[in-house]
Amino acid sequence: MLESLNPQPQDKILQLIAMYRDDPRTTKIDLGVGVYKDATGLTPVMRAVKAAEKKLWEVETTKTYTGLAGEPAFNAALVSMILGDGFADRAASVATPGGTGAIRQALELIRMANPAAKVWLSNPTWPNHPSIIKYLGMPMAEYRYFDIATSGIDFAGLMADLEGVAAGDAVLLHGCCHNPTGANLDAGQWDQVIALLQRKGAVPFVDLAYQGFGDGLEEDAAATRKIAAAFPEVLIAASCSKNFGIYRERTGVLVALTSPDRKAVVQGNLNFLNRQNYSFPPDHGARLVTMILEDATLTADWKAELEEVRQNMLTLRQTLADELRRATNSDRFDFVAHHRGMFSRLGLTETQVNRLREDHGIYMVGDSRINIAGLNARTVPILAAAIAGVIG
Ligand code: PMP
Repeated sequence: MLESLNPQPQDKILQLIAMYRDDPRTTKIDLGVGVYKDATGLTPVMRAVKAAEKKLWEVETTKTYTGLAGEPAFNAALVSMILGDGFADRAASVATPGGTGAIRQALELIRMANPAAKVWLSNPTWPNHPSIIKYLGMPMAEYRYFDIATSGIDFAGLMADLEGVAAGDAVLLHGCCHNPTGANLDAGQWDQVIALLQRKGAVPFVDLAYQGFGDGLEEDAAATRKIAAAFPEVLIAASCSKNFGIYRERTGVLVALTSPDRKAVVQGNLNFLNRQNYSFPPDHGARLVTMILEDATLTADWKAELEEVRQNMLTLRQTLADELRRATNSDRFDFVAHHRGMFSRLGLTETQVNRLREDHGIYMVGDSRINIAGLNARTVPILAAAIAGVIG
């Protein structure tokens, strides 16, 4: 049986990690994989997470199964963190293995409810979106998003393409901190997208993987909250991997907003999907998040550390934009300071990206996406000088 399997194409980012690992140069710089790193290059366990783990060890008396949807307290805490108050009667939800698990469950829910529904993706998007959709055999379409000339949003292209959305289609939107571009809709543009999708009868599907990494915890949820208030049905796949720094614990949630009288049926279908795919969702990370969000002191400390992380990335953005201005004697890269989240697409050619890697030991994804958090005060000028060299 297994001899009939074909080799899978290599994941480009994982390939990059291996190349970086095998590079003997001590001056090498890793701007590839999407994890937050502090100034020393470490991905720390957050203080509040450590404190919650210690407390959990003391108070946990059993590791028997949780509920199929996860612990209700976790789901409620996440619904409130994402949406604020006032949505509990419309929100069916299940805990999932990370944001990826939530995306996968959302797609399966869409397919179960309406096999003809197309899933619309921004071009570009996180490569795992089209990969999972293709694997599930679901119809898919793209809308323009990124303007290569300005490294901002191609808003006219986006609106023109979304005119093609049919009633019942699902439109995947990055709630904040777009991956891979770093370019995000402003409030007025969100309003126009919402009005267009309302007119089309679309179902918004929000991927919220970086709440707290852009403009702030509340600010990063603003678009999702507007969408939640504007549509009868919304799917939200949220991840705690980045904002709680618990990547390997696999902690996420899928929220399906519906009418209060449909909520029980939708909840039953979400539970069913968990049962088919893995029964009970992982608990450890979800429990830590709940403990943090239910304890005022831990919440305050977590928010303070998350804010340090966010500010660190903003400072790196500004210094990189300034250094690039100096090194290239142009404003071509000013957008780096306006982008938000962990990533920016720099708009370099594949040849230039390869030269940065080969000549300078600087590793970024082939589409010239950099992880801002991979930089520090010492490496920002090195990157700026190298970029000036390869584009000159
Ligand atoms: N969505 C986007 C846009 C992401 O970048 C990521 C993480 N790279 C995820 C979802 C999923 O994250 P995880 O499964 O690690 O929680």
